[in-house]
Amino acid sequence: MRDEAEHKADSEAVEVGARRGRDAEGVSFETRVDRVRALIEAPLLVSKPVNVRYLTGLESTNAVLLVEPDRLRIFTDFRYLEKARATGLEVVETPRNVYSGLGGQLPDRLEFEAEVLTYAEWAVLVAAGFELVPRYELVQGVRAVKEEAELEAISRSVAITNECFERLAEQPFVGRTEKEIAWWLESLMRELGADEPAFPIIVAAGPGGAQPHATTSDRVIEAGTTVVVDAAAKLGGYYSDCTRTFATGELPDELARSYDVCLRAQLAALDAVAPGVGGREADAVARNVIAADGLGELFGHGLGHGLGMELQEQPRLRPESEDVLAPNSVCTVEPGIYHPGLGGIRIEDLVIVDEDGPQILTTFTKELVTVS
Ligand code: ZN
Ligand code: ZN
Repeated sequence: MRDEAEHKADSEAVEVGARRGRDAEGVSFETRVDRVRALIEAPLLVSKPVNVRYLTGLESTNAVLLVEPDRLRIFTDFRYLEKARATGLEVVETPRNVYSGLGGQLPDRLEFEAEVLTYAEWAVLVAAGFELVPRYELVQGVRAVKEEAELEAISRSVAITNECFERLAEQPFVGRTEKEIAWWLESLMRELGADEPAFPIIVAAGPGGAQPHATTSDRVIEAGTTVVVDAAAKLGGYYSDCTRTFATGELPDELARSYDVCLRAQLAALDAVAPGVGGREADAVARNVIAADGLGELFGHGLGHGLGMELQEQPRLRPESEDVLAPNSVCTVEPGIYHPGLGGIRIEDLVIVDEDGPQILTTFTKELVTVS
């Protein structure tokens, strides 16, 4: 039995090995690994599951990848061996605690993902005698610059999101609960082909919308206020993200004025999105517009975030960001103005950073849409 099983594993490895380095969509894992290799000074231990998946195609919650100049090894436990071998890469079986199985198998000096490795894992490696050098968000930095296939994957996800907002705008809002609208939207999203919503859909009406991270509730939507809808599809492992604010009839002056200010800030910030611009600078463009109208205190979160295999990744667009926008990175631009006890406004587009100017993937109108 054992021989048969081994033989089967070998032949599978050969089959997959023939297309080693490329997945179905033409992504070159080898190119990705080479981009990482160019940045490291010692072998890098990649622990973050999404980073392991990005570099090998392996989806696992318990696999570690060692990137060396001329060698690539996956360490994982019994449960993921078959999947790991299917990558065509060298695979080493470890105990359930992967780190406890690395002693004696690896170079003495290792770089590790400082924001990912836990203290307990670090301690296991130190006890095994490794010299550990922290690296911060190294693979995330590589992931921030998207390949064409990734931009297409994100665009497919955005297309579903766009269609959802078009159809949502034709729906009655007043008298329905936030949860009803959210469920309607989620069902539609799945009907249109999404794998799942990118995050729990936010429908936040009236005072509920005054919290940037509002939770969708049983609140009945009333006439004459704003409804913030933050909803997006996830498809093929790639996220999208979109927020629009609807009016349910004529708005109080404060909210109507804030919508105009928020939109001006959003448009100005979109214009500023270009390669070489700092995440902090882009944020400041929107923040200055809102502050100039005396509403600066009501915009308490960052302007936006990168997006791809994770909902929030580099580049970060916020006051303390040190990220710089790279060509072919993707980010959201989403200023908001929140009036406690009254209502909120947020307008969020998804944008590709491009030498020829920002490519705005979100197509739903930003004129204030009044729903019934
Ligand atoms: Zn967002
Ligand atoms: Zn969002």
